[in-house]
Amino acid sequence: MTFLGMPTTAPRGVGNLRGDEPFPAAARKALANPQLRRNLHHATSTIRGKSAAVIAELPDWQQLRDAGAAIKADTMARLPELLEQLEAQVSAAGGVVHWAADANDANRIVTELVRATGQDRVIKVKSMATQEIGLNEALEAAGVEPVETDLAELIVQLGHDKPSHILVPAIHRNRAEIREIFLRAMPGVDPALTDDPPVLAAAARRYLRETFLNTKVAVSGANFGIAETGTLAVVESEGNGRMCLTLPETLITVMGVEKVVPTWQDLEVFLQLLPRASTGERMNPYTSMWTGVTAGDGPQNFHLVLLDNGRSAVLADDVGRQALHCIRCSACLNVCPVYERTGGHAYGSVYPGPIGAVLSPQLTGVEDNASLPYASSLCGACLDACPVKIDIPSILVHLRAEHVAAKKRPTPESIAMAAAAYTMDHPRLYAAAQRAARLSRFAGRRGRGLPPPLNGWTASRDLPEPPKETFRQWWAGR
Ligand code: SF4
Repeated sequence: MTFLGMPTTAPRGVGNLRGDEPFPAAARKALANPQLRRNLHHATSTIRGKSAAVIAELPDWQQLRDAGAAIKADTMARLPELLEQLEAQVSAAGGVVHWAADANDANRIVTELVRATGQDRVIKVKSMATQEIGLNEALEAAGVEPVETDLAELIVQLGHDKPSHILVPAIHRNRAEIREIFLRAMPGVDPALTDDPPVLAAAARRYLRETFLNTKVAVSGANFGIAETGTLAVVESEGNGRMCLTLPETLITVMGVEKVVPTWQDLEVFLQLLPRASTGERMNPYTSMWTGVTAGDGPQNFHLVLLDNGRSAVLADDVGRQALHCIRCSACLNVCPVYERTGGHAYGSVYPGPIGAVLSPQLTGVEDNASLPYASSLCGACLDACPVKIDIPSILVHLRAEHVAAKKRPTPESIAMAAAAYTMDHPRLYAAAQRAARLSRFAGRRGRGLPPPLNGWTASRDLPEPPKETFRQWWAGR
């Protein structure tokens, strides 16, 4: 299969998509931080409760999910055609469209566009795509100061930290930590600042208002791009996005190619699904839409950068391409038992949680992010929560299979699995194995571990005591 004329061996994504260490090592460090777990538990359980309450209000929630999934599947099936339609409509409305094959390409395009304005500062709307490509770092290297205007992103930026949640990037910080960051890094902050949330918000508002009014270039992402009209849409909760999208003279939007939707009517479905699944709101407080340039109203220069960065390769995989349906609501993070314990940093990529575990390895190539498909218990909570019904557990299994198939030499796990498969294929051998397992009742009681070389499995788990009789014995007795 080809996408926009590119072969199946389309270039993989580069940028902030992999960590310095594999997930198990990073997760172990995160698990040793009880404050982090408390913050995560409090935040995810609060959002889960809010979201469940507003979803329960809609009698047609399941039909909406079906509609969202169907629109996304249709979009992916004709992505090249829809992107060309989007390009034509944006250009007709006075915008300029740029195509970026990867993160380096996108960073170069945006940096050159900012340089052409003669400005050395940009304001930013929260955007996963620009985090993915490492745009802030690229702008700073070019002598341009990027200022994040979403409150949580600002906390992360001032703290020289990394986001740990798609929607609530500073979920790992509590208010005492935020006060300390503001005192240390926010220009002009009141030294008497307290950790009272309204006081912290007022400090950020004062700093950001001044910045909004004195900056001529903005960079945004996009939640949706409507092919039919060339309209871009950003949804947010704080109003900072509305400021960035309307006040500056130049607006540069970086959008992943999968964010295109065919028509206005399709948008109606996603504007119902997204707020209820993400923030637990009935509608997004701010939904900003713009089509090209309008004389005397809003930015007079508009550039749209369409980003591939590995998405063509994901699209070429019939099972994995579902990951491109994601509308970044973060519902899967909030229900994931693994995410709730480790937080987002352990995933290494800007995309954490279940969606990160399937998207990042596909963007980079599985071998470059091989631990992520295993960062799941396959409990299925992510599939139940996903507003566009992405079957994350099936993609995880698919990626694990791809990773195993790529291995040239047998591993202890593959040998154990082959032995298990052979045993299950031979009834007598299976019955003998069951008898042996029952004998282990005398060796392995709950709370005890297995002997080497299997002791790794029981290092952090109890060995369940085998039942007194096997199913076959129970059946034969009846
Ligand atoms: S995979 Fe589904 S639940 Fe997770 S962020 Fe994307 S749309 Fe939301």
